[in-house]
Amino acid sequence: MLLDYHMHLENGDFFRDWALRFWETAQKQGIAEIGFSEHVYRFTEAAQIVDNPWARERCTEDLEEYVQLILDLKAEGFPVKLGIEVDYFPGKEGIIEKIIKNYPFDYVLGSVHWLGDWGFDIPEFAAEWERRDLWQVYTQYFKLIEQAATSGLFHSLSHPDVIKVFGHAPTESLTDLYGQTLEAIAGVKGLCIEVSTAGLRKPVGRMYPEPEFLRLAKAQGVPVTLASDAHYPEDVGKDYQQAVLMLNEAGYQSITRFSGGQGEQVPLG
Ligand SMILES: [Zn+2]
Ligand SMILES: [Zn+2]
Repeated sequence: MLLDYHMHLENGDFFRDWALRFWETAQKQGIAEIGFSEHVYRFTEAAQIVDNPWARERCTEDLEEYVQLILDLKAEGFPVKLGIEVDYFPGKEGIIEKIIKNYPFDYVLGSVHWLGDWGFDIPEFAAEWERRDLWQVYTQYFKLIEQAATSGLFHSLSHPDVIKVFGHAPTESLTDLYGQTLEAIAGVKGLCIEVSTAGLRKPVGRMYPEPEFLRLAKAQGVPVTLASDAHYPEDVGKDYQQAVLMLNEAGYQSITRFSGGQGEQVPLG
């Protein structure tokens, strides 16, 4: 079975027809079920989570409207799941928990896109990369992933090494950093990491996470979700053959399916 648990409606609107175009591509790709995971910072109800000028400018949508659209599609019988992608910030756990509990999410993705006020994966902030120490950036990033994991708020951690998005990496070995991070993740029962093909469409041109990270995750018994992070319908399920191959090579034979926050393993492929 193939699932795609990370996609965004932000380039269209919260309309039935736009959402169904994502499902149409999924069907063509042999994907059994899709999950929408709109960015939390877009919703006025959650404005306090990502509290910076960039996010504030984009905080214009009604979470109620998004949730209702997906619930309506479910009621019509479409195999869709209600998810959300939440930016993790230490100290914001209480606010995040309140939002999550208010809506019937099937799963919540936890993401790190910000180191303080620096949106490291946003092209308009890319110049900042030249001013930073790469080893420090990487250790800061993976520390936040660890904290996101142990917060217990999330079902899966999106694009776990998105810090490499523009192709910057320290010269030091990352093995210990990966190992430490995965130990924290493995300590949270049922918490998944996401295997995402989105990195192939970014300057780095590589899958998230690295094969080494995935092998270590498997050794620690960490389950996975599978995703394209599509922002347009045509990207749903993109490069899945490559993702399945990488998963198989790391020893994974199953992926995780979520309903109402409960995960189950389903055979991959
Ligand atoms: Zn993301
Ligand atoms: Zn996303």
